[in-house]
Amino acid sequence: MSPPPPRITNVYIHAPFCARRCCYCDFAVEVDRRPDSSRWLATIGAELHALCASGEAPLAPELDTLYVGGGTPSLLEPWAIAGLGGLIEPRRLANPALEWTVEANPESFSEQTAAVWAAAGVNRVSFGVQSFDPHALRRMGRLHSASDARLAVERARAAGVANLSVDLIFGLPDHVRRSWKDDVARALDLEVPHISLYGLTVEKGTPLHRDVRRGRARMPAGERYRDEYLHAAETLSRAGYRHYEVSNFALPGFASRHNRACWEGSPYLGLGNGAHSYHEGRRWWNERDWAAYAEGITRSGRTRAGEEVLTAEQLRLESLWLGLRTMGGLEEERLEAEAARPVLRRWEAEGLAQRTGGRIRLTPPGWLLLDELTVELESNLASPGIESGAGSAAGPALQDCTGPGARPALPMHGGA
Ligand code: SF4
Repeated sequence: MSPPPPRITNVYIHAPFCARRCCYCDFAVEVDRRPDSSRWLATIGAELHALCASGEAPLAPELDTLYVGGGTPSLLEPWAIAGLGGLIEPRRLANPALEWTVEANPESFSEQTAAVWAAAGVNRVSFGVQSFDPHALRRMGRLHSASDARLAVERARAAGVANLSVDLIFGLPDHVRRSWKDDVARALDLEVPHISLYGLTVEKGTPLHRDVRRGRARMPAGERYRDEYLHAAETLSRAGYRHYEVSNFALPGFASRHNRACWEGSPYLGLGNGAHSYHEGRRWWNERDWAAYAEGITRSGRTRAGEEVLTAEQLRLESLWLGLRTMGGLEEERLEAEAARPVLRRWEAEGLAQRTGGRIRLTPPGWLLLDELTVELESNLASPGIESGAGSAAGPALQDCTGPGARPALPMHGGA
Protein backbone atom coordinates (compact mmCIF):
# COMPACT_ATOMS: atom_id res chain seq x y z
CA MET A 1 0.00 0.00 0.00
CA SER A 2 1.47 3.39 -0.94
CA PRO A 3 1.81 5.94 1.87
CA PRO A 4 -0.80 8.72 2.01
CA PRO A 5 0.22 11.96 0.25
CA PRO A 6 2.04 14.42 2.53
CA ARG A 7 -0.14 17.01 4.20
CA ILE A 8 0.53 20.66 3.53
CA THR A 9 2.10 22.65 6.36
CA ASN A 10 2.99 25.86 4.49
CA VAL A 11 0.37 28.30 3.23
CA TYR A 12 0.76 31.50 1.19
CA ILE A 13 -2.11 34.01 0.94
CA HIS A 14 -2.05 36.85 -1.56
CA ALA A 15 -3.41 40.30 -0.67
CA PRO A 16 -3.24 42.05 -4.04
CA PHE A 17 -4.11 45.64 -3.22
CA CYS A 18 -1.71 48.57 -3.50
CA ALA A 19 -2.45 52.27 -3.13
CA ARG A 20 -0.34 52.95 -6.21
CA ARG A 21 1.63 50.78 -8.59
CA CYS A 22 5.38 51.26 -8.32
CA CYS A 23 7.07 52.08 -11.62
CA TYR A 24 8.82 48.70 -11.87
CA CYS A 25 6.11 46.36 -10.59
CA ASP A 26 4.34 43.81 -12.80
CA PHE A 27 2.95 41.66 -10.03
CA ALA A 28 -0.62 40.52 -9.48
CA VAL A 29 -1.63 43.86 -8.02
CA GLU A 30 -4.92 45.76 -7.97
CA VAL A 31 -4.61 49.51 -7.47
CA ASP A 32 -7.14 50.42 -4.81
CA ARG A 33 -6.57 52.82 -1.92
CA ARG A 34 -9.50 51.48 0.06
CA PRO A 35 -9.88 47.81 -0.79
CA ASP A 36 -12.96 45.92 0.33
CA SER A 37 -11.48 43.88 3.19
CA SER A 38 -14.67 41.90 3.81
CA ARG A 39 -14.85 40.77 0.20
CA TRP A 40 -11.18 39.81 0.14
CA LEU A 41 -11.50 37.73 3.31
CA ALA A 42 -14.71 36.07 2.13
CA THR A 43 -13.16 35.21 -1.24
CA ILE A 44 -10.05 33.69 0.30
CA GLY A 45 -12.33 31.75 2.65
CA ALA A 46 -14.43 30.44 -0.24
CA GLU A 47 -11.34 29.26 -2.11
CA LEU A 48 -9.98 27.53 0.97
CA HIS A 49 -13.31 25.89 1.67
CA ALA A 50 -13.61 24.58 -1.90
CA LEU A 51 -10.05 23.23 -1.85
CA CYS A 52 -10.54 21.47 1.48
CA ALA A 53 -13.81 19.96 0.27
CA SER A 54 -12.13 18.65 -2.91
CA GLY A 55 -9.38 16.91 -0.95
CA GLU A 56 -6.94 18.18 -3.54
CA ALA A 57 -4.70 20.03 -1.13
CA PRO A 58 -4.85 18.31 2.26
CA LEU A 59 -3.83 20.67 5.04
CA ALA A 60 -1.96 19.29 8.03
CA PRO A 61 -3.66 19.50 11.44
CA GLU A 62 -1.05 22.16 12.35
CA LEU A 63 0.72 24.55 9.98
CA ASP A 64 4.44 25.32 10.18
CA THR A 65 4.24 28.59 8.28
CA LEU A 66 1.64 31.05 7.08
CA TYR A 67 2.81 33.86 4.79
CA VAL A 68 0.56 36.74 3.76
CA GLY A 69 2.16 38.65 0.89
CA GLY A 70 1.14 41.14 -1.70
CA GLY A 71 0.44 43.63 -2.90
CA THR A 72 0.24 45.48 0.37
CA PRO A 73 -1.46 43.44 3.10
CA SER A 74 -1.21 46.41 5.49
CA LEU A 75 -3.63 48.30 3.22
CA LEU A 76 -6.42 45.95 4.34
CA GLU A 77 -8.32 46.63 7.54
CA PRO A 78 -6.24 45.05 10.31
CA TRP A 79 -9.10 42.73 11.29
CA ALA A 80 -8.96 41.13 7.83
CA ILE A 81 -5.52 39.68 8.55
CA ALA A 82 -6.70 38.61 12.00
CA GLY A 83 -9.73 37.02 10.31
CA LEU A 84 -7.48 34.61 8.43
CA GLY A 85 -6.96 32.82 11.74
CA GLY A 86 -10.66 31.95 11.81
CA LEU A 87 -10.68 30.79 8.19
CA ILE A 88 -7.72 28.52 8.58
CA GLU A 89 -9.03 27.35 11.95
CA PRO A 90 -7.33 28.19 15.25
CA ARG A 91 -6.25 24.56 15.77
CA ARG A 92 -4.12 24.77 12.61
CA LEU A 93 -2.38 27.82 14.00
CA ALA A 94 -1.84 26.27 17.44
CA ASN A 95 1.68 25.06 16.64
CA PRO A 96 3.87 26.94 19.17
CA ALA A 97 6.59 27.11 16.48
CA LEU A 98 4.26 28.58 13.83
CA GLU A 99 5.89 31.32 11.75
CA TRP A 100 3.19 33.75 10.64
CA THR A 101 4.61 36.44 8.40
CA VAL A 102 2.73 39.38 6.94
CA GLU A 103 4.19 41.87 4.48
CA ALA A 104 3.61 45.57 5.14
CA ASN A 105 4.44 48.90 3.62
CA PRO A 106 5.67 51.48 6.15
CA GLU A 107 3.09 54.16 5.26
CA SER A 108 0.13 51.89 5.99
CA PHE A 109 1.47 50.18 9.10
CA SER A 110 -0.29 51.97 11.94
CA GLU A 111 -0.08 51.33 15.66
CA GLN A 112 -3.49 49.73 15.43
CA THR A 113 -2.36 47.43 12.61
CA ALA A 114 0.64 46.34 14.65
CA ALA A 115 -1.47 45.66 17.74
CA VAL A 116 -4.26 43.77 15.95
CA TRP A 117 -1.86 41.63 13.92
CA ALA A 118 0.24 40.78 16.98
CA ALA A 119 -2.86 39.88 19.01
CA ALA A 120 -4.00 37.59 16.19
CA GLY A 121 -0.69 35.69 16.28
CA VAL A 122 1.36 37.36 13.54
CA ASN A 123 4.93 36.97 14.74
CA ARG A 124 6.97 38.15 11.77
CA VAL A 125 6.55 41.30 9.67
CA SER A 126 8.39 41.97 6.43
CA PHE A 127 8.58 45.64 5.44
CA GLY A 128 8.91 46.85 1.86
CA VAL A 129 11.42 49.62 2.53
CA GLN A 130 13.50 49.43 -0.68
CA SER A 131 15.47 52.64 -0.02
CA PHE A 132 15.80 55.45 2.50
CA ASP A 133 16.56 58.07 -0.12
CA PRO A 134 13.58 60.43 -0.65
CA HIS A 135 14.48 61.05 -4.31
CA ALA A 136 14.78 57.31 -5.05
CA LEU A 137 11.55 56.52 -3.22
CA ARG A 138 9.70 59.18 -5.20
CA ARG A 139 11.12 58.05 -8.54
CA MET A 140 10.07 54.46 -7.83
CA GLY A 141 6.55 55.57 -6.91
CA ARG A 142 6.85 54.53 -3.30
CA LEU A 143 4.59 56.29 -0.81
CA HIS A 144 6.68 56.21 2.36
CA SER A 145 9.59 58.22 3.71
CA ALA A 146 12.70 57.07 5.55
CA SER A 147 11.14 58.13 8.85
CA ASP A 148 7.99 56.08 8.06
CA ALA A 149 10.25 53.01 7.76
CA ARG A 150 11.82 53.63 11.15
CA LEU A 151 8.44 54.33 12.74
CA ALA A 152 6.96 51.13 11.30
CA VAL A 153 9.77 49.06 12.77
CA GLU A 154 9.28 50.76 16.15
CA ARG A 155 5.54 50.11 16.03
CA ALA A 156 6.04 46.42 15.33
CA ARG A 157 8.49 46.13 18.22
CA ALA A 158 6.19 48.02 20.56
CA ALA A 159 3.44 45.51 19.71
CA GLY A 160 5.78 42.66 20.63
CA VAL A 161 6.87 41.52 17.16
CA ALA A 162 10.67 41.27 17.14
CA ASN A 163 11.15 39.03 14.10
CA LEU A 164 11.30 41.77 11.47
CA SER A 165 12.62 41.94 7.96
CA VAL A 166 13.25 44.81 5.58
CA ASP A 167 13.56 44.61 1.79
CA LEU A 168 15.99 46.75 -0.16
CA ILE A 169 16.20 47.17 -3.93
CA PHE A 170 19.50 47.52 -5.73
CA GLY A 171 20.40 48.12 -9.37
CA LEU A 172 18.16 51.18 -9.77
CA PRO A 173 18.28 53.05 -13.10
CA ASP A 174 21.14 55.49 -13.61
CA HIS A 175 18.97 58.60 -13.27
CA VAL A 176 17.85 57.56 -9.77
CA ARG A 177 20.83 58.83 -7.90
CA ARG A 178 21.13 57.44 -4.44
CA SER A 179 23.90 56.08 -2.32
CA TRP A 180 23.49 52.31 -2.08
CA LYS A 181 26.11 52.20 0.66
CA ASP A 182 24.05 54.64 2.66
CA ASP A 183 20.90 52.55 2.17
CA VAL A 184 22.65 49.39 3.39
CA ALA A 185 24.04 51.27 6.40
CA ARG A 186 20.62 52.68 7.26
CA ALA A 187 19.03 49.24 7.02
CA LEU A 188 21.64 48.02 9.50
CA ASP A 189 20.81 50.95 11.80
CA LEU A 190 17.28 49.56 12.15
CA GLU A 191 18.79 46.50 13.85
CA VAL A 192 16.25 44.12 12.35
CA PRO A 193 17.25 40.46 12.31
CA HIS A 194 16.49 39.85 8.62
CA ILE A 195 17.27 41.78 5.43
CA SER A 196 16.33 40.83 1.85
CA LEU A 197 17.91 42.27 -1.27
CA TYR A 198 16.19 42.44 -4.61
CA GLY A 199 17.81 43.34 -7.90
CA LEU A 200 15.58 45.53 -10.04
CA THR A 201 14.58 43.98 -13.35
CA VAL A 202 12.71 45.68 -16.17
CA GLU A 203 9.40 43.93 -16.69
CA LYS A 204 7.36 44.32 -19.85
CA GLY A 205 4.37 46.63 -19.61
CA THR A 206 5.60 48.60 -16.60
CA PRO A 207 6.21 52.38 -16.70
CA LEU A 208 9.89 51.62 -16.20
CA HIS A 209 9.90 49.41 -19.28
CA ARG A 210 8.34 52.20 -21.33
CA ASP A 211 10.91 54.69 -20.03
CA VAL A 212 13.79 52.37 -20.87
CA ARG A 213 12.40 51.76 -24.38
CA ARG A 214 12.03 55.47 -25.03
CA GLY A 215 15.51 56.20 -23.74
CA ARG A 216 14.22 58.13 -20.72
CA ALA A 217 15.77 55.66 -18.27
CA ARG A 218 18.93 53.63 -18.49
CA MET A 219 19.46 50.52 -16.43
CA PRO A 220 22.83 50.16 -14.71
CA ALA A 221 25.68 48.47 -16.49
CA GLY A 222 26.29 44.93 -15.21
CA GLU A 223 29.17 46.22 -13.14
CA ARG A 224 27.14 48.51 -10.88
CA TYR A 225 24.49 45.81 -10.36
CA ARG A 226 27.23 43.37 -9.40
CA ASP A 227 29.11 45.85 -7.22
CA GLU A 228 26.00 46.81 -5.27
CA TYR A 229 25.07 43.19 -4.61
CA LEU A 230 28.58 42.27 -3.53
CA HIS A 231 28.93 45.37 -1.35
CA ALA A 232 25.73 44.49 0.52
CA ALA A 233 26.72 40.83 0.83
CA GLU A 234 30.06 41.75 2.34
CA THR A 235 28.74 44.50 4.63
CA LEU A 236 25.87 42.43 6.01
CA SER A 237 28.09 39.38 6.51
CA ARG A 238 30.60 41.52 8.41
CA ALA A 239 27.75 42.76 10.60
CA GLY A 240 26.95 39.17 11.64
CA TYR A 241 24.16 38.32 9.18
CA ARG A 242 24.32 34.92 7.52
CA HIS A 243 23.87 35.08 3.76
CA TYR A 244 21.68 32.01 3.84
CA GLU A 245 20.11 32.34 0.42
CA VAL A 246 20.83 34.29 -2.73
CA SER A 247 18.64 37.26 -1.67
CA ASN A 248 18.37 36.78 2.07
CA PHE A 249 20.42 37.59 5.16
CA ALA A 250 19.55 36.74 8.74
CA LEU A 251 20.99 36.91 12.20
CA PRO A 252 21.29 33.42 13.69
CA GLY A 253 17.86 31.91 14.31
CA PHE A 254 15.99 34.36 12.08
CA ALA A 255 16.10 32.76 8.62
CA SER A 256 12.64 32.68 7.04
CA ARG A 257 11.19 29.24 7.62
CA HIS A 258 8.47 29.70 5.03
CA ASN A 259 10.98 30.30 2.27
CA ARG A 260 13.21 27.50 3.44
CA ALA A 261 10.33 25.01 3.31
CA CYS A 262 9.69 25.97 -0.30
CA TRP A 263 13.36 25.81 -1.25
CA GLU A 264 13.49 22.33 0.24
CA GLY A 265 10.68 21.24 -2.06
CA SER A 266 8.01 20.91 0.66
CA PRO A 267 4.41 21.15 -0.53
CA TYR A 268 2.69 24.51 -0.18
CA LEU A 269 -0.76 25.91 -0.78
CA GLY A 270 -1.27 29.33 -2.34
CA LEU A 271 -4.58 31.17 -1.98
CA GLY A 272 -5.60 34.35 -3.77
CA ASN A 273 -5.19 35.76 -7.25
CA GLY A 274 -2.01 34.67 -9.00
CA ALA A 275 -1.05 32.35 -6.13
CA HIS A 276 0.85 29.15 -6.93
CA SER A 277 0.55 25.82 -5.13
CA TYR A 278 2.70 22.71 -5.18
CA HIS A 279 1.82 19.24 -4.00
CA GLU A 280 3.01 15.79 -5.00
CA GLY A 281 4.94 16.90 -8.10
CA ARG A 282 2.00 18.93 -9.37
CA ARG A 283 1.89 22.69 -9.54
CA TRP A 284 -1.14 24.86 -10.18
CA TRP A 285 -1.77 28.56 -10.20
CA ASN A 286 -4.76 30.85 -9.95
CA GLU A 287 -6.16 33.48 -12.26
CA ARG A 288 -3.86 36.48 -11.96
CA ASP A 289 -6.43 39.26 -12.20
CA TRP A 290 -8.18 40.01 -8.91
CA ALA A 291 -11.64 40.69 -10.42
CA ALA A 292 -11.55 37.53 -12.57
CA TYR A 293 -10.29 35.50 -9.64
CA ALA A 294 -12.94 36.81 -7.25
CA GLU A 295 -15.71 36.24 -9.77
CA GLY A 296 -14.54 32.68 -10.48
CA ILE A 297 -14.35 31.83 -6.79
CA THR A 298 -17.80 33.24 -6.15
CA ARG A 299 -19.21 31.29 -9.09
CA SER A 300 -17.56 27.91 -8.65
CA GLY A 301 -14.94 28.01 -5.89
CA ARG A 302 -12.15 27.60 -8.45
CA THR A 303 -10.19 29.88 -10.72
CA ARG A 304 -7.37 27.76 -11.97
CA ALA A 305 -5.32 29.50 -14.65
CA GLY A 306 -3.04 26.56 -15.25
CA GLU A 307 -1.43 23.47 -13.86
CA GLU A 308 1.38 21.13 -14.70
CA VAL A 309 2.75 17.84 -13.54
CA LEU A 310 6.48 18.28 -13.30
CA THR A 311 8.50 15.83 -15.33
CA ALA A 312 11.46 14.02 -13.80
CA GLU A 313 13.70 16.36 -15.77
CA GLN A 314 11.93 19.48 -14.46
CA LEU A 315 12.05 18.15 -10.92
CA ARG A 316 15.77 17.53 -11.25
CA LEU A 317 16.45 21.00 -12.65
CA GLU A 318 14.33 22.59 -9.97
CA SER A 319 15.98 20.67 -7.18
CA LEU A 320 19.44 21.70 -8.46
CA TRP A 321 18.33 25.33 -8.60
CA LEU A 322 16.73 25.22 -5.17
CA GLY A 323 19.86 23.63 -3.69
CA LEU A 324 22.27 26.03 -5.33
CA ARG A 325 20.38 29.09 -4.19
CA THR A 326 20.87 28.35 -0.49
CA MET A 327 23.98 28.31 1.65
CA GLY A 328 23.30 24.60 2.31
CA GLY A 329 24.23 23.97 -1.32
CA LEU A 330 24.13 20.54 -2.93
CA GLU A 331 25.51 17.25 -1.77
CA GLU A 332 28.32 16.31 -4.13
CA GLU A 333 27.22 12.70 -4.02
CA ARG A 334 23.99 13.71 -5.74
CA LEU A 335 25.87 15.08 -8.70
CA GLU A 336 27.08 11.89 -10.37
CA ALA A 337 30.57 13.15 -9.65
CA GLU A 338 32.22 12.15 -12.92
CA ALA A 339 29.99 14.24 -15.16
CA ALA A 340 29.96 17.24 -12.86
CA ARG A 341 33.62 17.33 -11.89
CA PRO A 342 35.00 19.61 -14.64
CA VAL A 343 32.15 22.10 -14.11
CA LEU A 344 32.61 22.20 -10.36
CA ARG A 345 36.40 22.59 -10.73
CA ARG A 346 35.94 25.56 -13.03
CA TRP A 347 33.41 27.19 -10.67
CA GLU A 348 35.86 26.82 -7.81
CA ALA A 349 38.77 28.18 -9.83
CA GLU A 350 36.69 31.21 -10.80
CA GLY A 351 35.52 31.86 -7.22
CA LEU A 352 31.90 31.04 -8.06
CA ALA A 353 31.60 28.09 -5.67
CA GLN A 354 33.24 26.41 -2.72
CA ARG A 355 33.38 22.70 -1.95
CA THR A 356 33.42 21.87 1.73
CA GLY A 357 32.24 18.93 3.76
CA GLY A 358 31.05 17.03 0.70
CA ARG A 359 28.84 19.90 -0.43
CA ILE A 360 29.06 22.42 -3.21
CA ARG A 361 27.92 25.93 -2.34
CA LEU A 362 27.79 29.00 -4.53
CA THR A 363 29.61 32.13 -3.35
CA PRO A 364 28.02 35.62 -3.74
CA PRO A 365 29.69 36.06 -7.19
CA GLY A 366 28.25 32.63 -8.10
CA TRP A 367 24.80 33.63 -6.89
CA LEU A 368 24.86 36.53 -9.33
CA LEU A 369 24.90 33.82 -12.03
CA LEU A 370 22.56 31.37 -10.31
CA ASP A 371 20.28 30.59 -13.26
CA GLU A 372 23.15 30.22 -15.73
CA LEU A 373 25.15 27.98 -13.41
CA THR A 374 22.13 25.78 -12.68
CA VAL A 375 21.52 25.29 -16.37
CA GLU A 376 25.21 24.57 -16.97
CA LEU A 377 25.29 21.97 -14.23
CA GLU A 378 22.03 20.38 -15.31
CA SER A 379 23.12 20.09 -18.94
CA ASN A 380 26.31 18.35 -17.84
CA LEU A 381 24.34 15.90 -15.75
CA ALA A 382 21.62 15.26 -18.32
CA SER A 383 21.65 11.84 -19.94
CA PRO A 384 22.83 11.87 -23.55
CA GLY A 385 19.88 12.21 -25.88
CA ILE A 386 17.69 13.98 -23.32
CA GLU A 387 17.22 17.58 -24.23
CA SER A 388 17.68 19.86 -21.26
CA GLY A 389 14.41 21.39 -20.09
CA ALA A 390 16.37 24.46 -19.18
CA GLY A 391 17.01 25.22 -22.81
CA SER A 392 13.54 24.45 -24.06
CA ALA A 393 11.27 27.06 -25.57
CA ALA A 394 9.17 27.08 -22.43
CA GLY A 395 12.20 28.03 -20.38
CA PRO A 396 13.26 26.56 -17.10
CA ALA A 397 10.61 25.61 -14.59
CA LEU A 398 12.29 27.61 -11.88
CA GLN A 399 10.02 29.10 -9.35
CA ASP A 400 9.87 30.66 -5.96
CA CYS A 401 6.92 30.19 -3.66
CA THR A 402 6.96 33.34 -1.59
CA GLY A 403 4.96 35.36 -4.01
CA PRO A 404 2.24 34.86 -6.49
CA GLY A 405 4.33 34.47 -9.58
CA ALA A 406 7.46 32.83 -10.90
CA ARG A 407 10.53 34.77 -9.89
CA PRO A 408 14.01 34.69 -11.31
CA ALA A 409 17.18 34.76 -9.27
CA LEU A 410 17.65 38.00 -7.35
CA PRO A 411 14.08 38.85 -8.14
CA MET A 412 12.46 42.20 -8.15
CA HIS A 413 10.27 42.32 -5.14
CA GLY A 414 6.65 41.75 -5.90
CA GLY A 415 5.26 42.01 -2.45
CA ALA A 416 4.84 45.25 -0.55
S1 SF4 B 1 6.30 46.82 -5.69
FE1 SF4 B 1 5.10 46.20 -3.91
S2 SF4 B 1 4.12 48.13 -3.20
FE2 SF4 B 1 4.86 48.52 -5.28
S3 SF4 B 1 3.05 48.08 -6.56
FE3 SF4 B 1 4.29 46.19 -6.49
S4 SF4 B 1 3.42 44.99 -4.81
FE4 SF4 B 1 2.66 47.13 -4.60
